[in-house]
Formats: sequence, C-alpha cells, structure tokens
Amino acid sequence: MKGYELRFAIMPLLALSTALPLHAQTPPGNSAPRLTAIVDPIPAAADRNFEGVITLDVDASLITRGIVEVQERVPVTRPGPIYLLYPKWIPGDHRPSGSIDRLAGLQITANGKKLGWRRDTVDASAFRVDVPAGVTVLTIEFQYLSAPSSLFTPQMLRWSSLLLYPAGYFVRDIAVQAALRLPDGWTGASALSSGPIGSTASFDTVPLDTLVDSPVLTGRHIKSLDLGANVSLAAAGEKEEQLTVSPKQLEGLRSLVEQADRLFGARHFDRYAFLVSISARNGGTGVEHHRSSENYEDDAFFTSPDENPDAQTILPHEYAHSWNGKFRRPADLWTPDYRTPMQDDLLWVYEGQTSFWESVLAARSGLLSREMILGRFASLAATYMEAQPGSRWRSLQDTTAEPLIFRGSSPSPSWQRDFDFYTEAALLWLDVDQLIREQSAGKRSLDDFARAFFGPRDGDWGEVTYDFDDVVAALNAVARHDWGSFLRRHLEQTDGTAPVDWIDRGGYRLVWRDRPNSYDLAVDKADGITDYTHSIGLTLGAGNKVASVLWDGPAFKAGLSPRTTLVSVNGVPYSIQVLEDAIRSAASTRQPIVLGAKDEDGEHDFSIEWTGGLRYPWLEKAVKGIAPLDRTLSPLPR
Ligand SMILES: [Zn+2]
Repeated sequence: MKGYELRFAIMPLLALSTALPLHAQTPPGNSAPRLTAIVDPIPAAADRNFEGVITLDVDASLITRGIVEVQERVPVTRPGPIYLLYPKWIPGDHRPSGSIDRLAGLQITANGKKLGWRRDTVDASAFRVDVPAGVTVLTIEFQYLSAPSSLFTPQMLRWSSLLLYPAGYFVRDIAVQAALRLPDGWTGASALSSGPIGSTASFDTVPLDTLVDSPVLTGRHIKSLDLGANVSLAAAGEKEEQLTVSPKQLEGLRSLVEQADRLFGARHFDRYAFLVSISARNGGTGVEHHRSSENYEDDAFFTSPDENPDAQTILPHEYAHSWNGKFRRPADLWTPDYRTPMQDDLLWVYEGQTSFWESVLAARSGLLSREMILGRFASLAATYMEAQPGSRWRSLQDTTAEPLIFRGSSPSPSWQRDFDFYTEAALLWLDVDQLIREQSAGKRSLDDFARAFFGPRDGDWGEVTYDFDDVVAALNAVARHDWGSFLRRHLEQTDGTAPVDWIDRGGYRLVWRDRPNSYDLAVDKADGITDYTHSIGLTLGAGNKVASVLWDGPAFKAGLSPRTTLVSVNGVPYSIQVLEDAIRSAASTRQPIVLGAKDEDGEHDFSIEWTGGLRYPWLEKAVKGIAPLDRTLSPLPR
C-alpha cells in the first residue's frame, strides 16, 4: 500500500471512531469490572541507619542433599507491621533473578511464640509480619532448597538467597554478622575472609550490600593460588587433579592482575578473590563482585586451557567488572536495595566495554595468544557484518532490555539477537578505541578513557554512578569528537550495519578462507559444533543434528529448521567430508546442494542454493610493521 492510499483508507475509520461511545469494545449487557488501584504498602528504601545488627546463621552442612538451613535474628524497635524482603533484583544478573522459588519452611517467632506472616499479593518476595508489643527481636528460620548433588561437587553460596531483610532501608545501612557451617571436610573461600574458611566460620559485621556482594565458594577440594598484590584465586573442583595449574596459565593470571593495575591505575578493593568453581556441568559463566567474582568453568579449564579460548576470557571479564560495573555503575542500574527495579539501558557500557576489555586483557596478559584474539574479533565482525539479520529490526540499544525478556533460550538467535549488548557493543568499543588512536596519531586510546573513567579514587569500593552524558564527556576529555552522535547512531540504527570501521583503522582486513581460524576451530570443537553459518547458513551439533539455522540464509530459505537431522547430501549418505565436498563443488557446478534430513515427520530433501563454497572469516594484516590494532593488544609496559 502506498502512502496516499493509506491516508484515504484510514479516514473513514477515524470518522467512525469519534462517533462511537467510549466503551465501544464492550457489548451492551456484558459485565465490565472497574480497575482496582494497586497500593504498595511496602516502605521504599530510605538512607537511614538500621538500629542494631542482624545475626545470620547459615548451616550448609546438608548442602549435598540440597538443603541449607537459615536462622536469622532481626532487631525490631517498635510494634506494628514490618515487611521482610527476600532479595529479588540481584546485582550482576541485571534482572529479578532472586531465588524465591527455593525458599521453604518459613517460620517467624518472637519471645518463643510463632508469629503469622503474609506474603504481599503483588511482590511475592515480600512478607508482612505484625510485631507484637514488647518484642525486640524477630527470629526467622527457613530452608533454601536446591537439587541434591555429589559430595564432591563445588558449591557457591550466594547470601542473596540466604536471608530476609527489613524493608525501608538502603541495604548499605543494615549491619549483618554472618556465620557459616559447611559439611565436614569442606572448606571455603570468600572476599569476607582474608584466608581460607574452615568448616565453621564467623565473619566480621559488614553492611548487607557487602555481604551480598561476597559469595562463598565451598567444596571438598579447594586450592588457593596467590596471584600477587593482594589478589588470590580459589578453585574448587570435583577432583583434586582438575585443579592443577600450569606455570603458563599461572603466569597469565598474574599478568592479568598486573595489566589491570597498569590499565586502570587504581583499585576499588582492598583484596580480591577469583572464586573458580570447576565442574564438568559448568558452561562457562561468571558473576562480578567488587572484591571477588564467581567463575563457573568446565573441568578442562586448568588442565587443558587451550581447549576453549572463551573459557579463558571469563576471569578477565569478571575482573574488569570490579572497575566497570561495580565501582562505576549506571545511575539507573544502581539500586538502594534488592527490590527497586534495575534499568539496563547502559549495559552496552557496563557489559559491552567489559567484553572489549576481556579480549584485550586476555591478549595483554598472555592468557590467550594475539592470533586467538584476532580470530575472535574476525568471528565477531563476520557475525555482525552478515550473519545477524536481527539488526534490521532490533537496535543494539534495544538488546539491553534482553535480561528482562530472555526465558532460557532464543528459538532464532540470529533474528532475535538477544544479548548483543555484550558482543556487538564490544565491537563498538573497538571502533571507539581505533578512532581515538587515529585522531590522536597513536598517542591516546580507550586506555586513557579507562584510566580517567574507572580509575579515580584508589581504594574506594563504594559506587560512583554515571549516565550517557558522563560517558560522552569522558570520551571528549580523551579525544574531541561528536561522541554523542557517534554512539547514538550505532546504538539506535536498524539498517543491518555493524561497527566494523576498526578493522581498516586498526590496519587489518577481513578475509574469507575455506577453513576456520584457530579461535573458531577451538570454540566449535569445545561446543561440539560444525559451523557453516557463512556458507549454507547452518550449524550442526552432535549426531548431525541441525543446531541453528541463519535467518534468511540459504538453509533457511530451503526450509530447514533446527529440529532436523542430516542423513544425506546429494543422495550420498551424510558425513562432514561428503557435505564439505558438495559445498565446494557447487561453487563450480552451480547446482543446488540437496540435503536429505529427517525429523519426527519423516525424511525430506532440502534444495540449498549456495555457490559460494566454504567460507570462514579471518583478520589479515593490511599494513607493514605494528598495526594500531596490534598496539591495542600489546601488554602495557611498567
Ligand atoms: Zn559481565
């Protein structure tokens, strides 16, 4: 429909709508309820001192049976209603991920008498208790339940799952004294303690936000490593032998600490503990804290560090968050308690720039080779240049809403582009870095921004908040440019383009070869994937199953979907060799590639139009000598 036709088509409708009564949609005679206004009875967080100290006893001795017993004593100063809150918006998760579904057996008593409680009808993480006269302390007991596990599986105790706190206060104003009991023979590590934690521990009184920010890694086998300068690493694994660290990896981790100090020029912690949980079940994730980080790595993390390059970027990522995310935090993401909603619109700085630093610090520290990081950048650039069609409808800015949207899996990631505020934003920061280097003739870079923006106030482990304009002002202090327009254009555009000017500015070019670069090769192997995204537009997983189909790609257009299993190629029984030979020869025969695939409905042939051969992205140096991008990846001198 053309514009003018649309105008005429709409006019009669407009005329009609003004002539109808207000409740045009309700047929006469139908019942029509009136709105019941929601009144929030729970007091908002206020910056005032909480009188007294909450004592929190956590008994995790039955944790392998999936039971943690909590007993808590909360001082109260007057009779009447109070609200006790279970943490809901968890820092680092960027969403209301609190584990209220795991809380059971809640009992609240005072002076030996059981008190009733009632859950709020709007906020299921809030409990109202009417405090009788003469009561000075409430005793709260509940269990935190989880799936039973082996006696040897490491566990991460997150205090946010193990307490209730009174509504009406900033959590930094509530003092808590916690004690912990672990299973016999288990030990633990946490930023709460400068040394190892035995099977029972009593911690110093700390503000509630510090406690929640200080998880405890615990298990049967724990190994501690000193990374120098008050930074340690505690690793817990199912088996002792999973915790053997090679001298090269240890050197890389120590160098990571050094390189971060040189980059940021200040620290926002007194001591720092990498808490590394090693298990075959871990997928490679992490959660940041001010003085520690949760790092969930698979069982090859220490023993075969070259096996999965992405796994090696988790520690640099979480460490960089101590500066970017914990110390400097978006003003609307910072919340005074765990009930106030977090707003995620600046996650392209919080997570995006951290994703930039994870690669840069991994390269500078030697945790990953420069070749590996260049392969990673090539892979990301290629994805956003031609294999993320979702950028035609969804802006990078809009992806920052994903923590509130995501429900565990995305049916079509290339079209939904769920968490691109990590990876595409990392490319955006590469663009910023290379633009600063070009404009300053190599004298300045994003390092200068990092030092100025994340570095001030050595030793301060509070939070300093910022907004979009603060980011622009800090960039302008490094190199004058219309950064506001530059960033907004990249954040808001939906034209399918990607921030890849850094490739040319950085002295490289993206080229296509018929075999994967070393990064893609390693990651695909670790993930059990064979990747044809940039040729026929699909990836294959275990058992020849189609793992993903690129939206609008050749396989997609032929009608293939991820639930199918490949059985033949051009009539010949399927093997990787047969498929790759067929993709290669179609480049000269110009004939479609016919894939036989089966699903529960039977076997079908899919005719794929693709004559471009096998294609994998590489970054190739386009200049002689040291390129600007090489400088980004070079270790900072002392
Ligand atoms: Zn992160």
